Amino acid sequence: MNKSDDLQKRTWAEISLGNIRHNYEVIRNSLPGKCRFLGVVKADAYGHGALRVSRLLQECGADYLAVSCLDEAMELRNGGISMPILILGHTPYEYTDILINNNITQTVTCLAKAEEYSAAAVASGKTLRVHIKVDTGMSRLGFLCDGSLAEDGIDNIAAACTLPGLEHEGIYTHFAVSDEPGEENRAYTLRQFSLFTHVISVLESRFGITFAIRHCANSGAVVNYPEMALDMVRPGFLLYGYGDSSGRIGLKPCMRFMTTVSTIKYYEPGTCVSYGRRFVTERRTRMGILAVGYADGLPRAASGKCSFWTPFGETRQCGSICMDMCMCDLTDVYNAQVGTEVELFGENCDIFSLSDAAGTIPYELLCSVTKRVPRIYK
Ligand SMILES: *Cc1c(COP(=O)(O)O)cnc(C)c1O
Repeated sequence: MNKSDDLQKRTWAEISLGNIRHNYEVIRNSLPGKCRFLGVVKADAYGHGALRVSRLLQECGADYLAVSCLDEAMELRNGGISMPILILGHTPYEYTDILINNNITQTVTCLAKAEEYSAAAVASGKTLRVHIKVDTGMSRLGFLCDGSLAEDGIDNIAAACTLPGLEHEGIYTHFAVSDEPGEENRAYTLRQFSLFTHVISVLESRFGITFAIRHCANSGAVVNYPEMALDMVRPGFLLYGYGDSSGRIGLKPCMRFMTTVSTIKYYEPGTCVSYGRRFVTERRTRMGILAVGYADGLPRAASGKCSFWTPFGETRQCGSICMDMCMCDLTDVYNAQVGTEVELFGENCDIFSLSDAAGTIPYELLCSVTKRVPRIYK
């Protein structure tokens, strides 16, 4: 902790770089020998701090990083990250020079964009490294290669790969339900995978086009479909220690979202608490006012539906979560005092219970921890 964080001790996110390293090694050791490891560090490394996590992954010997956009890639380059970086999302072709000059790999999702990147690269006499994205059933970005569009899709990829000024280093697809149980989801994922490998083999047999790096496995697939690792895996969530099976394979969560009790008040039965008077005390209540609210990333949708960890037992959150504060019942947690640390999620308080209470997924909670919350690295 630096001094100002230490003095203030309001709300913070404790990030365990040791756990990230541990998770990296566990995942890496589960991969086939030559399989590369791409660490997904988009959205500030799911709230863990993109630059710190990327430095660690670079030091650990990861092969690639992925971000969502050019700004995220440049943050890493400006911070001294020299390893390969793939942009998963769209970059307007006007930025082709910046991509090339900073040695950033761009995803190409359709022929029209490939032509724009190609023209821009040729104009500056340079080559842009690209990965081709195939839409096999996520129905988001990528060359559609399914059903009636199968032939056109493959032809378009071949055309993109033969344009001047582009080096097609990789090809990838993204799964929609690799992390969800059930036979239907399994069939859907297998179908996505076989379509992907089919596209690759037609490109090779019909056009002689090959790719050094073929990849498709996100976190769900790394755990549930190890046979789909191909040349590289692309975990994000799993790297940070989350997911249904993360505990089973020995991964550890890397963020503890922490706050403190700022004040303790005693209320008579029948006292209305917080905005909207949605909570009314039933007994004489020792209420803790926590120094955390939705402006820190505690979801307001979880108001009155969640519990937090303290060293002296669990405490139930009461009433509407405010912008900068929320209340919790400390009547039975009598050892809790002003200054007592409270874990909102992390080692002791499963992030899934908070995300369920808020009607969302842990991914959203992780990247919703706001800028106001200092990250404390351990
Ligand atoms: C975000 C993302 C990933 C990582 O997904 P996780 O579920 O966090 O492992 C992988 N690939 C693409 C294309 C993504 O957008």
